[in-house]
Amino acid sequence: MHVRAIAILGATGSIGTTTLSVVRAHPSRLRIAGLAARSRWRELVGPAKEFGVGVVALADPAAAAEARASGAFPAGTRILEGLAGLTEVACLPEVSVVVSAVVGTAGLAPTLAALKARKDVALASKELLVLAGKFVTEAARVSGARLLPVDSEHNAIHQLLRAKPKGDIARLVLTASGGAFRDTPLADLRHVTPDQALRHPNWSMGPKVTIDSATMANKGLEVIEAGWLFDVPADRIDVVIHPQSIIHSLVTLADGSLQALLSPPSMAYPIQDCLLFPERLPCPAPRLDLAQALTLGMTPPDPARYPCLGLARAAAATGGTAPAVFNAANEVAVEAFMAGKLPFTGIAELVGRTLSAVTAREPAALDEILAADAESRLIASGLAPGLGL
Ligand code: NAD
Ligand code: MG
Repeated sequence: MHVRAIAILGATGSIGTTTLSVVRAHPSRLRIAGLAARSRWRELVGPAKEFGVGVVALADPAAAAEARASGAFPAGTRILEGLAGLTEVACLPEVSVVVSAVVGTAGLAPTLAALKARKDVALASKELLVLAGKFVTEAARVSGARLLPVDSEHNAIHQLLRAKPKGDIARLVLTASGGAFRDTPLADLRHVTPDQALRHPNWSMGPKVTIDSATMANKGLEVIEAGWLFDVPADRIDVVIHPQSIIHSLVTLADGSLQALLSPPSMAYPIQDCLLFPERLPCPAPRLDLAQALTLGMTPPDPARYPCLGLARAAAATGGTAPAVFNAANEVAVEAFMAGKLPFTGIAELVGRTLSAVTAREPAALDEILAADAESRLIASGLAPGLGL
């Protein structure tokens, strides 16, 4: 049996550590060849020993120097640094699948390099498709590498679309939990705190994506992500609030019937699907217990509660660099909210104002997107104090 060698970018994060638990459960199928993170090297020592990992990379050179000097890693472990180090880990000759799970856009260059080197990419970082979908999907197409979605909704749709002719698909339906403030009175939203926003009802995730769930900017990013992954325009992608997070998404078929994919709310399921595809083996996460009553609800999202969703749709319709502007402004806004410098409702306001202030264009090269990203961050940072508490 062939053992797949995996590299994890973002190995210390929520997706990264869940990936380790999936690999741990399938030692006859999967192994870890490389691990990369930003700076928390101590959290990589255990996995490096447990999985016999030969190469570790830290984006932060000071952290890499500390890790080398510590002597904590097994003798012979190579400790690389910087973007070049991350890229080397992603392109290691023995690696066949790269789990791209760096929060934000710092994983873009290593992920593009991996795709060009014909590595399959299990993509968690939706930001990369939002920012540079054109270039990421092109790199995969040119080399023949597979782009496998880790994001639970997209993974569900990927599973539902397998072996279906494109003409059978009328619409995609992304489910959303509705986040921490699904039932908070609208008038109270202005005063909710970062701590409250971080208490997600169903999922345990990194802080950025948890805040994005509360504003549903996350679902907006996912509409754009789905557009690139499945080559479907945003106006054929619906969003429904499904509070239980058990239906991970649906497809509407040409005859009007719908198909859904259900599993418990654990990222181990979609991660394992990407790593073992097309093989199915027991997943190391709880099962749905159908001996218990199960209620599955669906309601349409209220635009007044979730203005970020409409803004993302507008950015998707504009196209070009507009989704990158949306993403950059949202990152600035979330950071300001977390730092107590922007009210929760200021996130959508700041994103909207930045989208109006930055002119979108059709990018001919990746550099133009990176320039739009930088410009948007600057403009959003300038506008933020005006919307402050
Ligand atoms: P997290 O905050 O828990 O972890 C982020 C990881 O990225 C860490 O390992 C950190 O070291 C690494 N990192 C950050 N900046 C870096 C840099 N400059 N260079 C190298 N590494 C860097 O985040 P997460 O929740 O695991 O999310 C990761 C990605 O997956 C995000 O794009 C998120 O939207 C997506 N995602 C997450 C979930 C989830 O359940 N957590 C679900 C769907 C999609
Ligand atoms: Mg998701």
